[in-house]
Amino acid sequence: MTQELIVDNEDFTLPPELPPELLAAEPYGPDLVAAERAAAAFLSALGVKLNGEGLSETPARMAKAYAELFDPKPLRLTTFPNNEGYDELVIAREIPFRTVCEHHLLPFSGVAQVGYLPGERILGLSKLARLVEYFAARPQTQERLTKQVADYLYESVRARGAGVVMQAEHTCMTLRGVRAVGSKTVTSALLGTLREDQRSRTEFFALAGLPA
Ligand SMILES: [Zn+2]
Repeated sequence: MTQELIVDNEDFTLPPELPPELLAAEPYGPDLVAAERAAAAFLSALGVKLNGEGLSETPARMAKAYAELFDPKPLRLTTFPNNEGYDELVIAREIPFRTVCEHHLLPFSGVAQVGYLPGERILGLSKLARLVEYFAARPQTQERLTKQVADYLYESVRARGAGVVMQAEHTCMTLRGVRAVGSKTVTSALLGTLREDQRSRTEFFALAGLPA
């Protein structure tokens, strides 16, 4: 499993509150054979009979499916000098994402609004979606995912401000437990000017299509 995040700024530093193991290169790929064996044992322990036609390959498929969910594609965050001096908000809206909650290992999915106020450097627009995808490719909490995307965006381009809002439906809440079907969880992380300045914050929420 590769967990490679490269930022081209020479002086890019990680926000200190983020655990360094997030970026540590993981030398081993997933052990699909062991995962398949464990999935078979897990299903058997739950009373699921695996000898039927439809289920015999299920442990192998389970192993592959989870390996895919936990495999962040390497991400290169190339930044460019802000030569035009663009100083208004840049927002990517309705970025779809999916991940699994780290408490139940059940999927949660939704959309992210990701924006920043450029400083000296800007980022390729597609990278806003790639950042979300990158941090979603591991067991997560929505709160941490939101903050990680905001922190990395803010630091990588030394933005004047960064904001992320995520809305998601958690299947551990809608399909089991309280079964709150249709309920959405909303999280936000605002940094820099977007946090401190009321006008910027209001503008961000308006452009993100959310009530301030
Ligand atoms: Zn959960």
